[in-house]
Amino acid sequence: MSNDWKTRTQLVHQGSRRSQYGEMAEAIFLTQGFVYPDAETAEARFISAGEDEFVYARYGNPTTRMFEERIAALEGCEDAFATASGMAAVSGVLTAMLRAGDHIVSSRALFGSCHYVLDEVLRRYGVEVTFVDGANLDEWRSAVRAGTKAVFFESMSNPTLELVDIRSVSQIAHAVGALVIVDNVFSTPIFSRAVDQGADVVVYSTTKHIDGQGRALGGVICGTREFIRKTVEPYMKHTGGAMSPFTSWIMLNGMVTLDLRCRAMAASAETIARALEGDSRLNFVRFPSLPTHPQHMLAMEQMGGAGGTLVTFDLKGGKEAAFAFCNALQIIKISNNLGDAKSIATHPATTTHSRLSPEQKDILGITLGLIRLSVGLEDTEDLISDLSRGLAAISV
Ligand SMILES: *Cc1c(COP(=O)(O)O)cnc(C)c1O
Repeated sequence: MSNDWKTRTQLVHQGSRRSQYGEMAEAIFLTQGFVYPDAETAEARFISAGEDEFVYARYGNPTTRMFEERIAALEGCEDAFATASGMAAVSGVLTAMLRAGDHIVSSRALFGSCHYVLDEVLRRYGVEVTFVDGANLDEWRSAVRAGTKAVFFESMSNPTLELVDIRSVSQIAHAVGALVIVDNVFSTPIFSRAVDQGADVVVYSTTKHIDGQGRALGGVICGTREFIRKTVEPYMKHTGGAMSPFTSWIMLNGMVTLDLRCRAMAASAETIARALEGDSRLNFVRFPSLPTHPQHMLAMEQMGGAGGTLVTFDLKGGKEAAFAFCNALQIIKISNNLGDAKSIATHPATTTHSRLSPEQKDILGITLGLIRLSVGLEDTEDLISDLSRGLAAISV
C-alpha cells in the first residue's frame, strides 16, 4: 500500500486485503479462529504471528486488520488497535499503560464515561489523577511534574466545544516525558491532525463520524507500532475488548465516505451557526470557525479552518424553552449520538451530563438552556426551517 496517497484515496483503498477469490469489496471474516495446516505452524504462530497470520479474533482478524490499517494511515500513525466501543479504547489505552503509583493529568471537560474511568476506575487502582481546565495552559504547566506518565484530553470538549491546544499541551507534557493521549472524536480525523500537532496516541469512538450512520459501537487506539503492539495489544487481547469482524466491516465502509460526509456536515453546521447567531431568543451560539468563538484563532489553526459538525447554543428560558424547542422539531431527532447522517438535538443537562452535580455543570458551562446540535447530511435549508420551528415554539 502506498503512503503518499491523499486522504480520499486512502479512505477507499488503504488496508484492503483480498483472498484467493479476488473479491472487490472487503470480505467479512466472520470467524473466531483460524485453522493451521500442521502442529508446527500452530506452534510457530503462537510464538509470533506475521502480517497475514491470525490466531484468534480477540487478538486480531483480517477484516479488523483492514480497518486498523485504514485508520492508522488516515491518522498518520504506524499502527492501530480496534476496540469494541469508544470506551473500550479510552479505558483500554489508560489501563494498558498505567499502574498503581503513576500520575496522569487530564482536562476536566470530559465525556461522562471518560470522567468515570479517570475519576473512579484509575483512582481505585492507585493511579493519581489531576484534573485541570483544559483551555488554561498555566494549569497544565503546574499540574505536570517529572514522572507524570501521561496527559489525557478531548481536543474539543462536549458539549461546550471548547478547544485544548494540542501543540502547546504536547510541549508541556513532553518536557516532563509524559505521553500525550488525545480523544479526538469531536474534531474528527478529517479536520484535526492530532499526531502532526504533537499527540502520541489518538483514540476515537468510531460509533460517531466513522460509522456515521448510527449502526454500531466501536473504537480505535492509534499510535506507534511499538506502543500499539507492545503496550496496547497484550492488554487488549487478554482482557477482551476487541472489535467484532462485522463491526470492522461496517467501519471500513463508513470510512469510504468519511471525508465527504464530514466536509458536507461541517459546511452545513457553519451555515446553521451563522443563521442562528444574533437570534434574540438565544444567549449565545458556539461554533469554532465563527469569530465569536472564544478560541477562534486556535480553532482555525488546529482544525484547518473547519468548525466541526456540532453547533451548541443556549436558549433564553432554560429547561422549559429547551424542551419546547426539542419537542417542536420534525426533522432533527432528539437523541444523544453525534456525527450521524441524521441531525440530532441533545439537551446535555438532563441526558448526557445529568450525572454531574449543579456545581460541576456550572464549572463546565452546561446550562439548562443549552442545546447540542449534531448536524447531519440533510439539506441545510430544511434543517434551518426545522430549527426555526423549534425556536418559534419557545417564543409564544
Ligand atoms: C461517544 C464518545 C466516547 C465513547 O464512545 P462509545 O463508542 O460510546 O463507547 C468517548 N469520548 C467521546 C468524546 C465521545 O463522544
